[in-house]
Amino acid sequence: MTSEQVDPDQVWPAVVVGAGAAGMLAAIFAGRSGVRTLLLETRPQPGAKIRVSGGGRCNLLPSQLEADDFHTHGSAHAMRNVLLSWPLEEVRAFFEGELGIPLKVEPTGKVFPVSDDPREVVAALLAECARAGVELAGGFRVASARRAEGEPFRFELADDTGRTVRAERVALATGGLSLPKTGSDGGGLELARALGHELVPTHPALVPLLTADPAWRELAGISLPVRLTVLREERALESRCGDFLFTHAGFSGPVVLDLSHHFAGAAGARCSLHAQWGGDGAPDWERLLREGGKQRVESILREALPRRLAGVLLARAGIAAEQKASEFPREARKRLLEQLAACPLAIRGDEGYRTAEVTDGGIALAELKTRTLESRVVPGLFFAGEMIDVTGRIGGYNFLWAFVSGRKVGRALGESA
Ligand SMILES: Cc1cc2nc3c(=O)[nH]c(=O)nc-3n(C[C@H](O)[C@H](O)[C@H](O)COP(=O)(O)OP(=O)(O)OC[C@H]3O[C@@H](n4cnc5c(N)ncnc54)[C@H](O)[C@@H]3O)c2cc1C
Repeated sequence: MTSEQVDPDQVWPAVVVGAGAAGMLAAIFAGRSGVRTLLLETRPQPGAKIRVSGGGRCNLLPSQLEADDFHTHGSAHAMRNVLLSWPLEEVRAFFEGELGIPLKVEPTGKVFPVSDDPREVVAALLAECARAGVELAGGFRVASARRAEGEPFRFELADDTGRTVRAERVALATGGLSLPKTGSDGGGLELARALGHELVPTHPALVPLLTADPAWRELAGISLPVRLTVLREERALESRCGDFLFTHAGFSGPVVLDLSHHFAGAAGARCSLHAQWGGDGAPDWERLLREGGKQRVESILREALPRRLAGVLLARAGIAAEQKASEFPREARKRLLEQLAACPLAIRGDEGYRTAEVTDGGIALAELKTRTLESRVVPGLFFAGEMIDVTGRIGGYNFLWAFVSGRKVGRALGESA
């Protein structure tokens, strides 16, 4: 239906706000359980973020799941319980078997549609919504939500033009703040706040980091495998190996994005980032430099590292390009080894929501019932997807969270109706 056709006097047993990955799953599973469900969406066409995802190919799922693939500021136990409620193989079977989307696993472990076409995913989800009897109203941006008292419905939602929708149960699945042009502008988080939820402070996540050091910025375009370690007050918080990219403003690549949340907000100022160039496949630099004989130190470095990076590392260690390995003072070797294996990368923030893939923070897990994702603060209100304080790594993990939490909410809407 069009948003104009939504009857303002009708009381819907279930209204899902936001037709992204999480909202469509919530609506499908609510509809399948027989509850009349209305799905409201700001944009005329749902699923905008799915369409731009995965570099335009939609990295729908990961092929494997580890406990540290996700993080939350709340209870890791609660987060895990939600994630394990729909095993990865069953999620995959839903898309392949029930939605009819053939999937492939790439060597990186990421799962994509065989067609490499995100439109196939959106179309299949919309078709399943229709089969489940879900009524979709595009072009309806919920601008306010109020709890009704003494009226035959629990919630009244309204858009900016004064159109209203009444509901017994509402599921908010409005996403985070990244890429606002897709419709996810953070407005849903404000609705939650207005209804009584306290938000875990939000920050851009899976986002390129900025550096103030011009020497790194001159290396823009160079990519290589790196092991990165995040330290806070000398303690290693997290260490990951993966592809790293120098940009005109700082650092990017999957390994940087995966660790970027550590540098968000005030706590980020206490963290530092250290690189082991070459990653886990890096040569034994100490032995090479010790046994290098008449070879120039620079040539030894260049065997495993891009030329321009080798030059910057030598300069940072205060070593002349013509330095011979056999005449290498111990102190200088120590400085160079630090640059090669634990090189400090000064961070001065991130690129922000413009390029962030997801939002860190949001609705606190502690304010949700783990079994249903219903609010402990507002009965009848549910949350799904990115707006909850759970963030996954690069690699299909954020869609997985959206699908698992969406299905949980959809089933709970059905049960409670
Ligand atoms: C460029 C980019 C690429 C990405 N690629 C991948 C990838 O390949 N794999 C992966 O796993 N993750 C990827 N992500 C992350 C992933 O897209 C999100 O985590 C996921 O889409 C979140 O789903 P969601 O349904 O919670 O929110 P969203 O997809 O953001 O959907 C929320 C929906 O709610 C609607 N909405 C918002 N406010 C209102 C309102 N007030 N009223 C009505 N409707 C509203 C929005 O229009 C939107 O349609 C990518 C993100 C970006 C930005």
